[in-house]
Amino acid sequence: MRITDIRHVSAPLASEMSNAFISFKTMTTNVVAVETDVVRDGERVTGYGFSSNGRYAQPGLLASRFLPRLHEADPASLLDETGENVDPQAVWRTLMANEKPGGHGERSFCIGALDMAVWDLHAKLAGKPLWTILSERYNGGRYDEAVLVYPGGGYYRADKDIEQLVAEMRGYRDAGYRICKMKVGGLSLADDLKRIEAAAEALGSGETLAVDANGRFALEEAIAFANAVEPFRLAWFEEPGDPLDYHLNAELVGHYPHAIATGENLFSHQDMNNLLRFGGLRPDVDWAQPDPSLCYGLTETLVMLDEAERLGWSRRRFLPHGGHQLGLNMAAGLQLGGTESYPGVFAPYGGFADDIPIVDGHVTLPRDQPGIGMELKPALMDEMRKRLELD
Ligand SMILES: [Mg+2]
Repeated sequence: MRITDIRHVSAPLASEMSNAFISFKTMTTNVVAVETDVVRDGERVTGYGFSSNGRYAQPGLLASRFLPRLHEADPASLLDETGENVDPQAVWRTLMANEKPGGHGERSFCIGALDMAVWDLHAKLAGKPLWTILSERYNGGRYDEAVLVYPGGGYYRADKDIEQLVAEMRGYRDAGYRICKMKVGGLSLADDLKRIEAAAEALGSGETLAVDANGRFALEEAIAFANAVEPFRLAWFEEPGDPLDYHLNAELVGHYPHAIATGENLFSHQDMNNLLRFGGLRPDVDWAQPDPSLCYGLTETLVMLDEAERLGWSRRRFLPHGGHQLGLNMAAGLQLGGTESYPGVFAPYGGFADDIPIVDGHVTLPRDQPGIGMELKPALMDEMRKRLELD
């Protein structure tokens, strides 16, 4: 088994939506394909990966720094003990050779996209869905039959009013979701409270509504917001302040008894350790939300989960950000708390297998599709293959 080619491209994620901090109008994402000389059913076995929304692609870093390391490596050094499959950890170590610690910036997204493609390839060559490999190798064979999923929605858009927000939330309910999330922090507190009240009413209660400020608030604003929304008993209050402002979270928990969720913009296990050690978060109340496609991949997220357990954090308190099938495979095979979902937004990268319905807020996983399962989303495969000029 040899890797014969690695293709990558910067693909648009263009959207008119925005959250409290950014517009998605000019965003791009890394799309990667790792091809091999193994042919099954008349096709080369190929792993696919991408980095998730909210960031930009790094074609220059991939072309000039990371891919040359793989091309120059002894091909045998990238294989596992069978000699017939790629070893994702060995590939990761090769990619990260000669990289200084710290400074976890743009490089973590392109490694994340590559790592996703390599794990997809690894599972395909093993002939198994990725979640079963994660279950067998890292979770004693245990897994969840159904995974809690929640739509990351309720975005701001210039032409979107409260009625449209309510219709969106009702649509999620009709589609089978229970917990739904909406953006906050982009308007005045009074205006956001009107939106929250309407969304909570549409969902039947605030307890199945999560709100996401995308890091918008300073401490005093976060406390004022928390005080104002406390009566709603929201499912959680996400990213109240800057991702690296651990002090803000530590102070805020003293003012807010309900759940806080954060971590999607921390890109290394060291950063997550700092959040869990110094961010004041409560392992029995709050949630951690790393995005494996942005934080150096599944390989790094496995380290993150191990270290979090040593700090007293159950895997059940982790809800991967990003709404992609990698997070879903992790949630099932590693028995995490659930994962985000993007029905209808960030298409075609968000969302799960086309033919698996959401039932009572949970989704099941395919049992017969080797890899991450992206082939069960034809629109996603068509888009990636078109961008990569594979057709
Ligand atoms: Mg968020």
